[in-house]
Amino acid sequence: MLMIRLRNLIALVAGLVVLTACATSPTGRSQVILKSDDELEALAAKQFAEMKASMPLMTDQATIDYIACVANHIVLALDEPHSQMEWEMAIFDVDAVNAFAMPGGKIGVMKGILKAARNQHQLAAVIGHEIAHVTARHSNERASRGSFSEVGVQVAAVLLGGGNQGATYTAYEALKAGEALGIMLPFSRAQESEADVIGLKYMAKAGFDPRQSVPLWQNMNAEAGKAPAEFLSTHPSSERRIDQLVGQFSVTLPLYNDAQTAGDVPNCIAPE
Ligand SMILES: [Zn+2]
Repeated sequence: MLMIRLRNLIALVAGLVVLTACATSPTGRSQVILKSDDELEALAAKQFAEMKASMPLMTDQATIDYIACVANHIVLALDEPHSQMEWEMAIFDVDAVNAFAMPGGKIGVMKGILKAARNQHQLAAVIGHEIAHVTARHSNERASRGSFSEVGVQVAAVLLGGGNQGATYTAYEALKAGEALGIMLPFSRAQESEADVIGLKYMAKAGFDPRQSVPLWQNMNAEAGKAPAEFLSTHPSSERRIDQLVGQFSVTLPLYNDAQTAGDVPNCIAPE
């Protein structure tokens, strides 16, 4: 049953109308965008639904409220058209230190991310980064490059870690299908750097302290040995990443200060 479904999905992708287009990313990088956003978004929605059905969802209300609070602050601070998008977030009760983004505004956060994101500002750095992957159309750019990635499959498998064997397998298959479709391929280094830069602006505009992105990535690296994260699959070296973040403070600290002055002072309460 599952295999038939996968084949159907892949056939659907093969049938996509291919649009040739050159685009420019929000930081001015030239992008090759070959896929239809509408088609990719429809596939991502299907994929996301499958993940929600096959992976355990968080039930602890305090944790849900905390993560949703941070995400809402960031989405409210986005510019149009992204502020008008229907963002959807799923919080998975999975220990992996990870998060992901899919076309159309689907964001997945694993509970384990809270091991690295130790306060609301650090969590905002993660969510801002994921939202930036969406707004910069990174999945489309990645899918346009095409090839199926074995590395990606490994990352997906590690992402899930332990747990119930049957459920894990189903989720693994779901992720594998997503990668075959180009929806969940690991992002390139250039895309990761760009998501860092854009995400930092998003968090700062929402009133989160961009300086907290530095300890976040340090924590993420410390956790990497235990469970590789999306961020680390193709990450810029941690020193370069941190240098780049610090280099953005001259731009992002004024945004943060403006938000504070305007009264945008988020107070998302972390669960005990
Ligand atoms: Zn990323």
